[in-house]
Amino acid sequence: MEIIKSTAEMIQWSANSRAEAKTIALVPTMGFFHEGHLSLMRRAAKVADRVVVSLFVNPTQFAPGEDLGSYPRSFELDAARAQGVGVTALFCPDPDEMYPPGFRTTVAVAEITKKLCGKSRPHHFSGVTTVVNKLFNLVQPNFAIFGEKDFQQLAVIRRMVADLHMPVEIMGHAIVREKDGLAMSSRNSYLNEEERRQALCLWRSLQEARQHVLAGERGCAKIEKIVHDVINNHGHCHIDYIEIIDKDTLESSARIDSDVILALAVRIGKTRLIDNGRLLHGEDNA
Ligand code: AMP
Repeated sequence: MEIIKSTAEMIQWSANSRAEAKTIALVPTMGFFHEGHLSLMRRAAKVADRVVVSLFVNPTQFAPGEDLGSYPRSFELDAARAQGVGVTALFCPDPDEMYPPGFRTTVAVAEITKKLCGKSRPHHFSGVTTVVNKLFNLVQPNFAIFGEKDFQQLAVIRRMVADLHMPVEIMGHAIVREKDGLAMSSRNSYLNEEERRQALCLWRSLQEARQHVLAGERGCAKIEKIVHDVINNHGHCHIDYIEIIDKDTLESSARIDSDVILALAVRIGKTRLIDNGRLLHGEDNA
């Protein structure tokens, strides 16, 4: 596995791959790899000849006061894990390499970035779309794989790629969970023992919602109230949002059908966790 740190080297590597008629799949990440990340990388290795994983804690998607400084990092372990699942190149630039002095350009998607996570993190998605754009230009992948855990990010990127005619196929990958149901996340490492127990409220409320839908309930307001109660009964959990929305447009829904997902953001102590899933047809929104 090659370790690439400079943008010039990344561009050259990509040009060489195309000259050799090799297809490229890109998996953008912020590192501190868990099984969720690794399953995206395995999928990438199945769809393309070469896999590039970017490991970059992107400063522009964090607001002042968020966890940029404390975001967990573990480069040596990450590199070993990536190599173990068949990654061809690990692209890990320094922030100055990605944002040299004088950098002034932002790529932003309107409307769907203002809902859900965008309400409490108003500048987050423009940071994401800008850096993903840069990664697409540097790597020029045939495929890019994103987790459905960050379903709004996936919807925003699909919108950007369609709107800007970007020649890359976006693939969503199902949520990977711990044995007890908690969606894997690098931020789970912030949780102490008691918070880890409380964090299960996201999965439990999703399961409770599914039980009621299975029993015939189709009203979104009623299901949202049930989810609200499950989370509040878990103690010390602060609800950021609970919404039942169309999985593509992210519009609120009044009735439950196979196109909607339940989306949650909950703060457990200082840690903000997100989760989502379909309520009809299947477990996660795969
Ligand atoms: P991150 O490093 O948290 O920015 O995540 C990098 C990629 O991995 C994103 O596309 C995430 O949606 C995806 N991802 C993170 N956690 C999971 C998970 N538990 N299951 C599936 N994909 C995930």
